[in-house]
Amino acid sequence: MLIKGNKSEIKELIDSGKNIVLTSHTNPDGDAIGSLIAMYNYLKKLNNTVTMMVPNKFPEFYKWLPKSEDIIIYENRPKHAQKILHNADLIFALDFNALSRLGVLTDIVEATSCTRILIDHHIDPEVDKFNYCYSTTNVSSTAELVYSFIEMLGDEKLIDKNISEGIYTGIVTDTGSFSFSCNRPETYNITSKLISHGVDAQKIHKLIYDTFSENRLRLLGYAISERMMVWDEYHTALIYLSKEDLLKFNYQVGDTEGMVNYPLSMEKINMSVLISEKDNLLRLSFRSKGDFSVNDLCRKHFNGGGHKNAAGGREANNIDAFIKKLKSILEDYKNDLDYKISL
Ligand code: 5GP
Ligand code: MN
Repeated sequence: MLIKGNKSEIKELIDSGKNIVLTSHTNPDGDAIGSLIAMYNYLKKLNNTVTMMVPNKFPEFYKWLPKSEDIIIYENRPKHAQKILHNADLIFALDFNALSRLGVLTDIVEATSCTRILIDHHIDPEVDKFNYCYSTTNVSSTAELVYSFIEMLGDEKLIDKNISEGIYTGIVTDTGSFSFSCNRPETYNITSKLISHGVDAQKIHKLIYDTFSENRLRLLGYAISERMMVWDEYHTALIYLSKEDLLKFNYQVGDTEGMVNYPLSMEKINMSVLISEKDNLLRLSFRSKGDFSVNDLCRKHFNGGGHKNAAGGREANNIDAFIKKLKSILEDYKNDLDYKISL
């Protein structure tokens, strides 16, 4: 896990009285926000000055997390954020493997000369961009790694309810409520300890998943009944939401989260793609079942990446051209996509 650097140096770096900035990726998800919250609450206990920073807005349904109101959204306060980064002794990169995933924050972080520590679970981290790398793909989430990072530094005793709620949120969202990336006993050992620290799993489920607006639920229904294409020959389903579609349902950040998973509930479907028109680009979200790697597909063809079964990318804003391109690419993967999951 600690693939670059040694732990006694890290221990010294976070010892106390440091200016530490915690960053995570563009379009932050539950693992990004949960990991930030957990690390923030941990590093504060070591008497550091800690700032959490993300490039752009994150969904409302993570705003119950302790101290989430302190997360600085770079897009909203660029000057303030730049000043904080300029004074940082140490920057943590949580839940991403390449600095470019910081979007509008990339150049500013790249220009800083302070120490950088990566904690992440994506494939192929940019090891040369960080002084320390705590990384493996063999975990459910970055949040799970945050737990073992704290444990590695001998500080397990500092883990409290606030830290635990952050870690639990990362684990539960990155495993789709324990439905994928969830076959390692250690994930459950850690989860069990989080519950012992006072995490209320039922309450957190409600706060994350049962807080839809009426518009959000209607958008989901519309997306599936009106905007889903099914390509039997490629065992693939696609949902396309245009800017107008999103406007019609008064789209709020987070409203499409989880939507891409629904088509996978069809037995015949092995890959699902959600295409949404945002910021004058097509934002792509890919999910797969079993061995088909959407990470490879996104890296190779769609300016993106992620994990084997969950990846993202982006394309120029031309849906017809995108569909044509995807179909021609899938011709080459036709055999790879033709499988049935069995025990
Ligand atoms: P989502 O589809 O939920 O936005 O993202 C799924 C996974 O792919 C996440 O692990 C996310 O970090 C990663 N991902 C999403 N978009 C991109 C992208 O543009 N580039 C890379 N490298 N990874 C992405
Ligand atoms: Mn993650």
